[in-house]
Amino acid sequence: MRNIDYASKQLENINKRISTAAHQASRDASNIQLIGASKRQPAKKIELFHEAGLQAVGENFVQEALDKKDRLSALDLDWHYIGHIQSNKTQSIAHNFTWVHGIDRLKIAKRLASQAAPQRPLQILVQLNIDLETSKGGISPEQFGPMCAAISELDNIVLRGLMLIPKPRTKSQDQREPFALAMQQLQKTNQRYGLSMDSLSMGMSSDLEAAIAEGSTMVRIGSDLFGARI
Ligand SMILES: *Cc1c(COP(=O)(O)O)cnc(C)c1O
Repeated sequence: MRNIDYASKQLENINKRISTAAHQASRDASNIQLIGASKRQPAKKIELFHEAGLQAVGENFVQEALDKKDRLSALDLDWHYIGHIQSNKTQSIAHNFTWVHGIDRLKIAKRLASQAAPQRPLQILVQLNIDLETSKGGISPEQFGPMCAAISELDNIVLRGLMLIPKPRTKSQDQREPFALAMQQLQKTNQRYGLSMDSLSMGMSSDLEAAIAEGSTMVRIGSDLFGARI
């Protein structure tokens, strides 16, 4: 199969999964954005998927992302940062990405706010550690509200919502619970602090249907879209 045909077919499969899940939840699929999680995928492959119609990619490592962005500078692609954030990388992140998904420290948000350009405010998502896993980033449900309230005061960044990476559930009927809790947390925080967060970055290859059933607005898909990572 030609490479472009492979990319088109993979993209079509994921878009079909998204629209089926949206339909089952009586939601409009156009409110769910696909982000290709492209870590450890070569620039050439991203280019093919873009040609097939992919509009946004999410990268986890700053240097890897900048190398690819350089090679793909001619493409009209939207770059999301979905990895762990080191404070010495905030300037590169502020200058090279439109969305940042994994904020879990006020200090990082403040640095991004001071480094982002006023005419191009960064779109920010706070990572919620719903399962309280010590191996993962993100903040606890109790800290979530106060953190969002503090971030919403900062200039040059726009607090858009939350990002979630739940602990894998083996039974598919258990998958929806963390996503439902995340949605409740977002709504509760909006009410309590008078915020208007509208985005939930949740759902990966193995649980995108469950995430969409509970209101996800952005799914980050790696292996089921691009194939195995190198
Ligand atoms: C790798 C990655 C994904 C995609 O995972 P898949 O299981 O390959 O779909 C999504 N989100 C984040 C933060 C990731 O690091």
